[in-house]
Amino acid sequence: MSTDCIFCAIARGDAPAHVVYEDDHALAFLDIAPVVPGHSLVVPRRHVEGLLDQGADTAYAAMGPALAATARLLAYRLGAEGINVLQSTGRPAGQVVFHIHCHVVPRYTGDGLLRLPPRSQSAAGELAATHARLVGG
Ligand code: 5GP
Ligand code: ZN
Repeated sequence: MSTDCIFCAIARGDAPAHVVYEDDHALAFLDIAPVVPGHSLVVPRRHVEGLLDQGADTAYAAMGPALAATARLLAYRLGAEGINVLQSTGRPAGQVVFHIHCHVVPRYTGDGLLRLPPRSQSAAGELAATHARLVGG
């Protein structure tokens, strides 16, 4: 727990939020500035800043049931045809609240929202070189 963290305060029930799902390990609530109606945030109850911090593995795992439950809510109650889950770790990635969380965004055909940028197939040897950097001796 972090005393000055807004998401810890929401998880404790000390700050207001439109909670749509909760269990012993995580909760989901509506983002205060939604990209589209239903845009939700899933957070573990335990405070961990991001994926690079100690305890990130269990904190991330704790979000699993909440992610699936929230996705189903958005689909069944709001008619979402698809779902994006976005996790940002670190300022360059766009993180502004340093309590690990996932954005769960309802998607609709032709909504024009986020797509990965267009890409072309990797140049010969590039994947192998990157693979060697990642897991080579
Ligand atoms: P990040 O950029 O860190 O991945 O996203 C943080 C998100 O938290 C933003 O989309 C922002 O709108 C949302 N947010 C920030 N403060 C609050 C708050 O007090 N309540 C709620 N419900 N959402 C918040
Ligand atoms: Zn926190």
